[in-house]
Parts: sequence; structure tokens; C-alpha cells
Amino acid sequence: FVESQWLPFKAAIDSHLHKTWSATSIINGAAIDEYKTDGQVNNLEAHTVRAPWNHDVIAGEVVYANADLAQQATLAAVAGQAAWQAQSAAKRAAILRKIADLYEENYAELMALCQVEAGKTMQDSIDEIKEAVDFCRFYADEAERLDEVVHEFTDLSGKPARQVYKARGTFVCISPWNFPLAIYTGQIVAALAAGNTVVAKPAEQTSLIAHFGAQLMYQAGVPVEALQLVIGAGEVGGALTAADNIAGVIFTGSTQTAQRINQSLNSHAQSSGELPILIAETGGQNAMIVDSTALPEQVVKDAVLSAFGSAGQRCSACRILCVQEEMADDLIELLQGNMAELSVGNPLYAATDVGPVIDADAKNGLEAHIERMRAEPTATILAQTPMSVSSVVSQEKSTFVLPTAIEVKSIDVIGGEHFGPILHVLRYQARDLNKLIDAINSTGFGLTLGIHSRIENSAEHIERRVLVGNTYINRNQIGAVVNVQPFGGCGLSGTGPKAGGPHYVARLMKLDNDNQPS
Ligand code: GLU
Repeated sequence: FVESQWLPFKAAIDSHLHKTWSATSIINGAAIDEYKTDGQVNNLEAHTVRAPWNHDVIAGEVVYANADLAQQATLAAVAGQAAWQAQSAAKRAAILRKIADLYEENYAELMALCQVEAGKTMQDSIDEIKEAVDFCRFYADEAERLDEVVHEFTDLSGKPARQVYKARGTFVCISPWNFPLAIYTGQIVAALAAGNTVVAKPAEQTSLIAHFGAQLMYQAGVPVEALQLVIGAGEVGGALTAADNIAGVIFTGSTQTAQRINQSLNSHAQSSGELPILIAETGGQNAMIVDSTALPEQVVKDAVLSAFGSAGQRCSACRILCVQEEMADDLIELLQGNMAELSVGNPLYAATDVGPVIDADAKNGLEAHIERMRAEPTATILAQTPMSVSSVVSQEKSTFVLPTAIEVKSIDVIGGEHFGPILHVLRYQARDLNKLIDAINSTGFGLTLGIHSRIENSAEHIERRVLVGNTYINRNQIGAVVNVQPFGGCGLSGTGPKAGGPHYVARLMKLDNDNQPS
């Protein structure tokens, strides 16, 4: 995009960049910065948040809740259920639309937070806010639409009965750091749209954004009983998913964590008789299949954006570029040229394409994978983009991972999902196309697939055989748009229903049969 597009925004964002923010849990409207037990006041764990692109930049202070406070937050949300459910759909929708308006009014501070706390580039930060706003407006429409959905029945003698949508209860919403505003907001507003109350547990890495978002939600009119915010790490997440009386969990994150939550909900169901539901959106091992009729320039542009956009930290990202042998050499050459053009560095610069990864754990895991591939006799490093010279950042005080392309001979050698800017390239023979699709399916993941082909039949054949949630043909495979490309996968990639689609809010509701007197 053109750098000058950002000039009007830049001054507004810059005015927030030197702020330090703070975040605490919020229970029934009260900020929780200490923990009282038996008349004693105990301090809670506090953490300093540093920008991932320069650890000398302090974004703010975060106070973590403990398991007992998580329990209190759940009880508060359960107690708030009856009142929120009693609000009309029109009222709930109006509040959600107001959240959208407030996000737009506060875009500069939200963008600054996305850049400083999450290390997002300018383009990613604006996309983040747009998606959050879209979720609010779309789910507001859904609240009203589902309120009108009445199934009418009559028995043989003409006696009427009807079935309508009702809220389910309290949902625990556990959201990820890679979409710290969009997915965080999407989960919460979907549950609120359905008339459910919420305990939100955002990823600890992006607590400041979540806290600011929650403040805007209260300002828009979300009652303090209907939304409880719990800030903290895995310990509090575990306490929330084991809580009594919850109707379900909405989770976006790793497949392993989703499996743990599922176990916790199952054992909880056995002990309490409740059957909470789980809506999980998890990882991906996403491929792009390119046949010899594809347009090479377009393929490379789409593959680079899909693999390295957002520093590869999207579950939809392209991880394996599968190229038909006949065009592989040319395509790899183009890919190398394109990667050399990427600007890797400080996300505050408008020209930056790839910012840092979220933290040291992420960086260490990704670099360990690159080193493993370097030592692997069947793998070859094809390209690695250096840091851009204009970016003044020290490697020790930041968490950058260089965009890397690695040629591999099989999918197995990759060993699961690597959540960052690493693209694997795999050659295939046209006669082995079905074997390739089967190998992609056998990873167990099923989130996104890219297809580049100018033969319609061939694209259709791949689309029918592959097991994924979202297929993208002759374009990039990231950035699903709310109410245009409902997003979600199958298998190890998640349970569905698709976020931003017509079944999501409905899944958070139950159908109630209402039999009229005879
Ligand atoms: N919805 C995002 C996309 O289409 C990905 C969400 C995620 O990474 O969890 O790129």
C-alpha cells in the first residue's frame, strides 16, 4: 500500500505512542488490583509489558488474577444472566453497534496499542480494528435476525406450537494474542448478542488491548454484570473452564489447549450434570497447491502475503507451498526475489511488511525449527530476508524471526504447525496430485487451502477432495472477511461453526419449544 495513505493517521497514532497503559481484571465493574482473603490483603502478580520490537519501550503494567478471582468472576456472570437475557434483542444490538462506533472513534489509541503491545504493523493494526468493528455490527444484525426466527407448528387437530431462539447462559471466552482485538471482541459480542453473559480471558500477552476494549464495551452500555474480565495466564484459564454452571467455552488458540479444555468440560459434565459446549478454532498446517497453469507472479505475491503477512502469526497462514515440478524452479526464483523485497523491522514504520513475533518463547521455537531444517539432509534453506537496515532494533532486545523459505521433500519432515514467518516449499509431480492432497489431509488439520490453477476442473477436483474449512482460489488465503468468508476449520483445526457466518450466534443459543394452550 502507499505510505502516504498513512500520513493522516500517523499523527493521531503517534500522540498515543508514549503512553503507558494498565490492565487489571474487572469483576462487577470493579478493577481488581489486590486480593482479599480472611480480612488480609494480598498483592497479586504484576507484570511489565514491553514492546516486542524493542524491550526498552514499556507498554504498561498488568495485574494477573488468581484462580479464586476467576471463580468469583464466573459467579458474577452467572448471577448477571437473567437480567441480560431479559433485554430485548434490539437493545442488545444497539449496544453492540455502539461498541463499533466507539472502536472507530478510538481507532488511534487502539492502533497504537496493537503496534506497541502486539507488535502489529500499521496495515495489520487497521485491519484488526476493522474486523472487530465488523464483528460488532454483524452480530448485532444476527441478534435481531434470530429474534425473528420463529418456527411454527400445528398438530393434527390444529393446536399451535412454536420454537424460538433463547440464550444458553454464561460463556467463558478465551481469546488469542494474534488477534487481540478482533477475535477477543468477536467472541464476546457473539455471546452477548445471543443474550449470554461472558467471562472473558484474553491471552496474557495482550492484556492491555483487551482491558481497553472492555472499557469501551462498558462505555457502550454493556452492563458490568454481563461482562467480566479476567486477566492472567493458563492457571486462571484452567479455573474458568472447570467452573460450575457455565454454558460453554469459546476458544481460539492451540489444538492441544482445546483438547485440554474439552477434557475439562467432559469431566465437569460428569460431576455436575451440565453439558457445556465447546466452540474451538485452533491451528492449521495450511497448503497452497499450484499447478503449471498458474500465473507465477500472482502465486508468489499471494504466497508471500499468506506466509509472511502478520509475521506468519495467523492460523490461516500458508505453511506449505506445493508447486508442480514443471514450474518449480522459476517459481522459487521469483519467490527469492520477492522475499528480498520484504521490509522486516519496526512496526511503527509505515513501510514495514513484517514485524516481530509475539515473545521470546515464540522466537526460540521458530528458530529451533529453522535450525532443525538446516541440519536436515532432505531440506534446503531457499531464502531468508534480513532485517531492514533502516530499522534500529537490537536483536537482544526484540523478538524478530527472519522470514524464511525452506524446500522440503515431504510434509512429514515439517513436523506440525510452526506459528511464524516460515514457508515450506514442496515440489510435486502432476500424476501425484491425489497423493499430495491425501498427505495434506493426513496432517489432521483442516483450516485453509490455497489453489492456483487456470483450469477450472482441476481447481474443483482439489477443492472437493481436500478436507478444509476455507478454500481460496487464485488469491491469497488469509484475512477472511466477516459475513463474506465465514471462517473456521475441521479436524484438528476446530469445531466450527464458522466465525462471522450465519450459524455462529445461533450456536450460542438454544431452541426452546413453546407449546400454546389447547
Ligand atoms: N481469521 C483470520 C484469517 O482469516 C485468522 C484467524 C486466526 O489466526 O486465528 O486470516
